[in-house]
Amino acid sequence: MRNPLITLIGGNFKTRKKSAKWSPKAQQLIADASDGLETFYDYHMHLLGLGTKERDIWVNPTVLSLIHPFDFLKAKVFMNASGIRNKKKADEQYLNQLFQLIEKIPIAGKYCLFAWEKCYDLNGEVNLKDTKIHISNDYVFRICQRLPDKLVPVVSIHPYRTDAVIELEKWAKKGVKMVKWMPATMGMDPSEPRCVPFYQKMKDLDMVLISHAGEEETVPVEKFQPLNNPLLFRLPLEIGTKVILAHCAGKGDGKDLENKGKKVPNHELFFRMMDEPRYEGKLFGDISALAQANRCGAPLRTVFEQKEHHHKLLYGSDYPLPAINSAISLKLLIKLGYLNKEDKSPLTEIYKNNPLLFSFVLFRSMHDPNDENYRLPISVFSYHKSLGI
Ligand SMILES: [Zn+2]
Repeated sequence: MRNPLITLIGGNFKTRKKSAKWSPKAQQLIADASDGLETFYDYHMHLLGLGTKERDIWVNPTVLSLIHPFDFLKAKVFMNASGIRNKKKADEQYLNQLFQLIEKIPIAGKYCLFAWEKCYDLNGEVNLKDTKIHISNDYVFRICQRLPDKLVPVVSIHPYRTDAVIELEKWAKKGVKMVKWMPATMGMDPSEPRCVPFYQKMKDLDMVLISHAGEEETVPVEKFQPLNNPLLFRLPLEIGTKVILAHCAGKGDGKDLENKGKKVPNHELFFRMMDEPRYEGKLFGDISALAQANRCGAPLRTVFEQKEHHHKLLYGSDYPLPAINSAISLKLLIKLGYLNKEDKSPLTEIYKNNPLLFSFVLFRSMHDPNDENYRLPISVFSYHKSLGI
């Protein structure tokens, strides 16, 4: 049974079995979005499940327990948006919806699918108490093999693991190029000297670290929240490891560790590093989730303003987040000057049919609030040669 409130907050859309028949306006918007793009790249996508079928997935029972009502509600909203209608079939249903959405996108695309590492303590021991969810590297790799021309596996390896470097080499040999971290959830401190051999190995193997940065809202472990400070990534950058910071670190304030620890918006700390010429070709930002109501103020405006950095930005959907009906407000994006009023109805139509396509078309349609003719360049949505992924 679908709870109407959860449906409204979660995924208020219906994926049609057959290809959608678009209205002329929606058709035009999709055509405009794909104009000039042979293949678009989504560098940020989550693979989730509940471990109902797959032994490679584990969810901490506390996440699904009413003892933690906020976590419980969030989990319900996520499940709804991800197409999970029956908890017992959660793993298959998540995949079914994801594959269906991808299949119906009328433009060739590549999607980087993330594994999800457990928490580890500094002594190298696994910390299951703070682990909210675990999606193994094996599982992600296996799923990506089902659609090898579209899905790109991204492993997640905790640098405190005693076998971290061995694990890294193992996946590199299988052709994996990217490693995913969520410090505020997994508990790694990117500035911890213990990570140095890991960074060094990543650099030697020409692998790229993609990490969530800025305040974590989806699955934070509160005591780990300061670990999402963008400045902590100076260590891998100084070593020469390539780093993509998700959402351009666009949420919340972080401690300015270079200025007496005063609180500064995280996206400003991120752009401070982007300004440094020595990080050219090393530091990148993904624009995923920046259209959400909680990031489309100053963080998104700054992203549009910083035009000299647009060649270092990458598109990411952060799926399943765009499927959450309440996450993005088109009305607010119009009010703030990013969208034209007439795009609201075709975008809503696209959302209702395919939230993954909606996310892409939305980001292609948004413009600089100060310049209606300026949209993010096509390179943001394309293959990034300098990353080699
Ligand atoms: Zn994400």
